Amino acid sequence: MDKIRMTTPLVEMDGDEMTRILWKMIKDELLLPFIDLKTEYYDLGLEYRDETNDQVTVDSALAAKKYGVAVKCATITPNAARMEEYHLKEMYKSPNATIRALLDGTVFRAPIVVKGIEPTVRTWKKPITIARHAYGDVYKAVEMKIPAAGKAEIVYTAEDGSEMRETIHDFDGPGIVQGMHNVDASISSFARSCFNYALETGQDLWFATKDTISKKYDHNFKDIFQEIFDAEYKERFEEAGIEYFYTLIDDAVARVIRSEGGYIWACKNYDGDVMSDMVATAFGSLAMMTSVLVSPDGTTEYEAAHGTVQRHYYKHLNGEPTSTNSVATIFAWSGALRKRGHLDGIEELAVFADKLEQATIDTIESGTMTGDLALITTLDHVNKVGSEEFIKAVRTNLENLL
Ligand code: NAP
Ligand code: MG
Repeated sequence: MDKIRMTTPLVEMDGDEMTRILWKMIKDELLLPFIDLKTEYYDLGLEYRDETNDQVTVDSALAAKKYGVAVKCATITPNAARMEEYHLKEMYKSPNATIRALLDGTVFRAPIVVKGIEPTVRTWKKPITIARHAYGDVYKAVEMKIPAAGKAEIVYTAEDGSEMRETIHDFDGPGIVQGMHNVDASISSFARSCFNYALETGQDLWFATKDTISKKYDHNFKDIFQEIFDAEYKERFEEAGIEYFYTLIDDAVARVIRSEGGYIWACKNYDGDVMSDMVATAFGSLAMMTSVLVSPDGTTEYEAAHGTVQRHYYKHLNGEPTSTNSVATIFAWSGALRKRGHLDGIEELAVFADKLEQATIDTIESGTMTGDLALITTLDHVNKVGSEEFIKAVRTNLENLL
């Protein structure tokens, strides 16, 4: 069989620990035998990040902007323990935060749904994709402990010196205040990323805030979404047969629980933080969550939602067998290859991506799975396998499909 040819390179961002091991196995077993793989390689492994003073992370994000599609392996976010372990020069920011800031993107998280790993919520049949606005609100808030009676005010001073002022509260004893902000430019980027991703995946988009209570702050989110939708997306949504739907956050949570899934739920920063944990847990496994970063200009980066699975890596280093789930990382690759195929008009590449996903799902549904899934599956006959065995089983199924 001839290998599938690519015309534009994928931006490949390699990572750390157990996921770095899986990364190589996936390439060797599932990609290189079938595709004349073209990538521009960036090593985001912590050692090389340190060697380049994290310049490699910035370069990889710029390359993603240039080529439009990237695939990323999980990476270590340095903390005090990692400073010591890797003798780092500096406590670098999380690569995801650096890349997200440069691409001004929104992260979409969606579970991979397979028979045998059943959601806790009985009605859910299709994935629910959560889009979290990753700027501002309580995450960039300024807070104050009020020691005793007094007046707290909120003041805005314009560049010409004029002021706007509101009383927050006349305290008659100790208390607390918080000031938070957001900016229209970021909310607009968030809205466009959501509308683009809905069009790209052919799914409805839901958005919800507490605008009945927050008549200026949350209302501003609602208005910006509606204005951009009406001006730029309404017709395209109609043509695609999908819907943009705004509702109150209380109503949204109730509807989500009663729904079948199959839509994108756009959330403000805090709502997305909390709801993505709830949705991920209810769908069964963090190891089955994909994560896609989409910028308003359409640049897309695919990855798994989980981390580097450090505990398994140390077992691996000790020569012990591991049973680490590679599904979300496989889907990061298939997502990126499919997107590259669509952009470059290489139908074969998109078809390959579909078959790779199908082979992965077939493997699990036939009972062959890693330990994390074996613990929670509802299937009767389970063949629990190691990290490498799983990938080899996917390869066998893939060869049958090709
Ligand atoms: P983690 O790597 O997601 O792993 C936490 C635990 O979840 C694992 O110990 C394992 O449980 C289970 N797990 C996660 N993924 C799994 C998989 N693919 N297969 C089987 N089990 C899986 O989170 P962490 O231990 O908190 O973080 C480790 C490192 O990853 C940290 O340095 C963190 O900075 C980094 N991180 C990176 C990203 C990213 O790049 N996007 C995201 C999150 C964290 P058991 O041990 O019980 O088997
Ligand atoms: Mg959270």
